[in-house]
Parts: sequence; structure tokens; C-alpha cells
Amino acid sequence: MNEIKSLFGSMVFNEEVMRERLPKDVYLALKKTMAQGTHLKLEVANPVANAMKNWALEKGATHYTHWFQPMTGITAEKHDSFISLNGDGKALTEFSGRELVRGEPDASSLPSGGLRATFEARGYTAWDPTSYAFIKDRTLCIPTAFCSYSGQALDKKTPLLRSMEALDTQAKRILKLFGNKGVKRVFSTVGSEQEYFLIDREMWLKRLDLICCGRTLFGARPPKGQEMDDHYFGAIKPRVSAFMKELDEELWKLGVPAKTEHNETAPGQHELAPIYETTNIATDHNQITMELMKSIATKHGLACLLHEKPFEGVNGSGKHNNWSLSTDKGTNLLEPGDTPYDNLQFLLLLVAVIKAVDDYQDLLRASVASAGNDHRLGGNEAPPAVISIFLGEELTEILEAIENGCMYHSKEKTDMQIGASVLPHFPKDVTDRNRTSPFAFTGNKFEFRMLGSASSIAEPNIVLNTIVAESLSGFADILEVSKNFDKDLTDIIRNTIREHKRIIFNGNNYSGQWAKEAERRGLLNLSTTVDAIPYFIHPKNIALFEKHGVFTETELHSRYEIMLENYCKTIYIEAITLLDMVNKGVIPSVIKYQNELAGLICRKKEIGNLPSVLEENLLSRISALSQSLDKWIYELERSVKTAKTNGNLLEAARYYCDTILKKMRQLRIVVDELEANIGVEYWAYPTYADMLYSVN
Ligand code: ADP
Ligand code: MG
Repeated sequence: MNEIKSLFGSMVFNEEVMRERLPKDVYLALKKTMAQGTHLKLEVANPVANAMKNWALEKGATHYTHWFQPMTGITAEKHDSFISLNGDGKALTEFSGRELVRGEPDASSLPSGGLRATFEARGYTAWDPTSYAFIKDRTLCIPTAFCSYSGQALDKKTPLLRSMEALDTQAKRILKLFGNKGVKRVFSTVGSEQEYFLIDREMWLKRLDLICCGRTLFGARPPKGQEMDDHYFGAIKPRVSAFMKELDEELWKLGVPAKTEHNETAPGQHELAPIYETTNIATDHNQITMELMKSIATKHGLACLLHEKPFEGVNGSGKHNNWSLSTDKGTNLLEPGDTPYDNLQFLLLLVAVIKAVDDYQDLLRASVASAGNDHRLGGNEAPPAVISIFLGEELTEILEAIENGCMYHSKEKTDMQIGASVLPHFPKDVTDRNRTSPFAFTGNKFEFRMLGSASSIAEPNIVLNTIVAESLSGFADILEVSKNFDKDLTDIIRNTIREHKRIIFNGNNYSGQWAKEAERRGLLNLSTTVDAIPYFIHPKNIALFEKHGVFTETELHSRYEIMLENYCKTIYIEAITLLDMVNKGVIPSVIKYQNELAGLICRKKEIGNLPSVLEENLLSRISALSQSLDKWIYELERSVKTAKTNGNLLEAARYYCDTILKKMRQLRIVVDELEANIGVEYWAYPTYADMLYSVN
């Protein structure tokens, strides 16, 4: 425990370090900036930069970087050293307030979706003082937002911070109505559970598909998959355990509160859950977590796979985004309260989320859309592509009672009249956790489970914050001018339940019946990324984001383009990688094995016409398969050649989705069939069993 204490945050320029190292007035000014999200003045920035530099140099840092999250989904850094030369050529270390607050990366090759033509490549980065600077690889990393000179967001942090502001504004209007005047800030909190696979690095190096695409593009199913459920929470293997230990320690040093590490459903699959934090910090920390998982795995001779579906037929990886609302006083606003009034406030916030999720199913789905996640959503493991909310039996019954204005019979057998007066005290988790629901209330927070394991958590949280802000703003508009608060409040709660109860579903989300039922209820079912992304530029959604100052219409269009472009590029790379592996590895294996069989058959004939039924059958099966192989290689090659790379992006994406992916799947079926029929030592690539059971 003491070890954790001394490690935790030791590489972070945090509160404690600031208090220790900054002049009192500077410290207080910085704190104020952090608490209120206001602008940092240069006279404050200069001493902060100096203290930061000295602290970083003492910790062995030589460089600094403005660490930011461009729209590629990974983090970007451009390192500058602290060194500058004075007049006589002597080296000085320098780092000014100006350099701290603002950087100008020549980021011309980062995607901007037309926001910033490459010839005017300069955007600028601005320190987000609400997120602490930290040292990673001898580099002082300053978390920053990245904007164009005209103020358009070129990253994920800027809109996330804006969405938090929108939520703060609207939530405070509501709290004020309930008499909570002392609250200075309301923000969302997030704990994101991260799933991943670990395989042996030697195996990884032999699979070009894992290296280039993050997932296997073919591979016959292993004889033993996850059917036995023996991996989940099973004993952790020594190599994995050593990896987890180092990962935890490195994360703690950077102030990332890694909490639980355990095995997941599939062989080789694991999960890390952190303690929750303010959303923008949690987002930074999830990026750091993914980055460290990869680099630490390499040190242990392992490869960390963050892709949503590295192995077909084996459980995929996601992220569970646990989301709640908190005040600066530390009160969780989604915790049912003790007094009737607290409970009414809770109910109002609860129905605000229900309304938000129902009204903006499209945006929530679009916020988790990626080529990788398409393999998972809709498969028989992860939540389906249809959004619905799990509330649990008891809370659902309470809402039904409110809707119908009748008595609620609580589990403790007491009858209660609910409405403006009382809400029964209901225990958390009275029903079984529903693991199939995409959006579940888990007692004092919501768990959004559709996120892909490889994506940034920024988008889904931008959407969640904004859509809940929108519900709250509508409620506040009515209640602020209400002449009969209690009645109007009860009406809002009741009407919202009535209008949006279609989104509540407590059953099994994987069942075929639910798909039909959801359709009957009129819920959206956007099964692919290409179906989902256009909703980002739907007029209703543009109006929402503009109203709350989260995205301008131009920014939304640019993001729409970048997402489609990413999608096309991802599938293009997959298609040419698949063709490359088939041409250079699969075909030679097939030829070699056939050659061996044919030779044996001939020799047997020569020796004295010995029977060779087995060899002949096998040879003709493989010959037939190699004919299909040839056909699908040709088909895929032709489609890749005719794929449009310019012009209408949506059409191009549709083509990749409908034509190229389908042909890749066809080709894969043949390759998998061949793999199952060809001797292991002839096969050019590690098999699923080789990879999944490669770590001991
Ligand atoms: P379990 O799901 O096993 O019951 P917990 O409920 O404690 O575990 O937490 C699961 C995840 O939810 C953790 O990452 C945790 O930090 C996060 N979490 C817990 N409370 C909140 C909250 N108020 N806001 C956001 N995330 C939370
Ligand atoms: Mg969970």
C-alpha cells in the first residue's frame, strides 16, 4: 500500500507539486483557472512554466510536448527539447509561459476534414489546465486542445470540454430549482473498463494482418474456444501477471487510478478497470492506458491487441463507459436520495437521461461507430446495434406506478403513494445485472457498453453530455417559469416516462425476439458504421450541437468526412493485406501440400498401384478449394481496383461496406477451409490456437 502511495502520481505535476512549488498567488490564480475553466493569463503561465520545467528536469525529462488528441483517435505529440542557446553558444534550458499555454505543431498531415487546407497547415494547441501535465519517456507531456486559427476544433478534447460546459450550465439550472444553490460546478464522471487481448509477440510478428490491421483476416476456429467459460476470472498466468503489475505501476506513476485487472471471457482476453474521474481526465487517462498497454506488452515479449474483433468466432473487446453526474461537492446526482425532494431531483435526472437516449439513439450509435466495432455490435456477444436502456425490474415498476399515478408495492411490502411526496427506498442491484443491455442503470450510474475497445471515449461522452444537457434545458425552461412547481415537476416526470418508455427494455438483448420487438417500437437499428455516420450531419443533430456550443455545423461536416475517410482507408488496408497474405503465404502453402500429395500418389502407383484413396480425396478437395480461392482473389482484386477513392465519400464507404467486405468474407471462408485441410507444417501462418494459447 505504501508503495502505491509513493508511486501514485509521482510523474504528475499535480495539485500537491503545484502547491509546493508555486508562489502562493500564482498557485491560487491557477487553481481558480482550473476550477472555473477560465483563461490562463501570461503572468500566471510564466512562473507555472518555470516551476514545471524545473520539476521535469529533476525527474530526468529532456523534452516537452503538447500532448493532444487529433481526430485519428490516437494521441499526437511533437517533442521539443528544453534546450536553447544563449549568445555565446552555451546551452540553457528554457520553457516560457507562452510555450506552456500555446504550441504550434506543424500538423499539416493530421486529418481536418477540409477545415484547414494543408498549405495553411498551422493549427495551435492550448493547454487544458484542468488536466495535469505528466512525464512519459523523459518527456513532459502537456495535455492540450488543438484548434485551427479560426477557432475550429481539430481534436477530441475541445468539443469534450465544451460539452462538459453545456452540461454544467443546464444541470445547475435544475439544481437551483431544487434549492441547491451552493453548487459551483456539475460535471460528468466516467470510469471506462478496457478490454484487450495479449498474445505472444513472436506470433504477432508472423501475422501481417495483426501488424497492419490489428485483427486476423482469416483463421480457422480453434478446437477449444471460449465454450468452457474457464478463462473468465480464472487464474492469471505468470507472464500476464508480470505485465499487469508493470502496467499498474506505470499507470499509477502517471496518476491513472488503475484498480482491477482480471481475465475476460475469451482465452488471452483481459480487462482493466480504473476508478472513475471527471470525464475529460478519464478520457486522457484512457488514451494513456491504451498506449501503455501496447508499449509494456512489447517489453514483456507480448503484443497487446486493442482491436474490437481480433479473432472471428471468439469474444470481441469493448469498453464499458460508466457515466454519472457529480457536483463539485462530490455528490453523485444519480444516486437515489434519502428525502422525498432528493428523490424527485433524482427522478428528474433519471428521466432526463431516458429522454436523451431515446431522442438521440442515432447520435449515440454514431458515436461508437467504427469499422472495427461493426464486427462486434450485432454479433452474439456484445450489445446489439439497437439502443435501449436497462433499468432493472424495481425501478421500472416505480416508473410505471408514477406514469399511472397508482400505488407502488415495494419489495418490503409497504405500499406507497408516489408522486410529489415520496419515493420508496430501493436497494441497488435488486435484479440481476443485465449484461446484454447496451445502456444499463447500475444503481448510481449508467453503463454505456457499446464502445469499441480501440476507440477514444471522447465521442460517446461528448454525445452523452450534450444530449443530457438538452433534456435538462427543456425541463428547466418549463420549471423556471412554473407557478406550481410540484405539479409541473410531477407532470414532466410522468409525461417523459409516457413518451419515452419505448426505450426501456429489461430482457435479453441478444434474442431474435428483441430485434422484432425493437422494430415494432420504432427503435433505430443502424447495423453498420456507414448507416450510422450520416446522423452526425442530420439537421436535428446539427441544431442540438450548435445550440449547446459543442460543434459548429462546419465542424460536424469535417468530422463526418474524417469518419467516412477512416472507414474507407481501414477496409482498403484490410483488403490489400488479405490479398498480400493469400498470394505470398496461403497459395505457396496450398501448392506445396498439393505437390506433396500428388507426388505420393504417383509414387504409390509406380511401386505397384497401391491404394491412395485418402490422398486422392484430399487432393481433389484441395484442388476444388484452390479453384474457389482463385475466383475470390480475382473478385476481390477487381473490386479493390474499382473502389472510388475520390468523389462522394458516403458512396465510397457504402461500396467498401457492401462489396469489398463481403468479398473479403467469401475469400476468407475458402482460406479457412484450406487451413483446416492442410498439414500444420505446410501452413504459412500461426493458427488461432497458436495465438490464443501462446501466453503461459
Ligand atoms: P462493478 O461493475 O463490478 O460493480 P463498480 O460498480 O464499482 O464495479 O465499477 C465499475 C466501473 O464503474 C469502475 O470503473 C468504476 O470506477 C466506475 N464507476 C463507479 N462509480 C461511478 C460513478 N459515479 N461515475 C462514473 N463511473 C463510476
Ligand atoms: Mg462493467
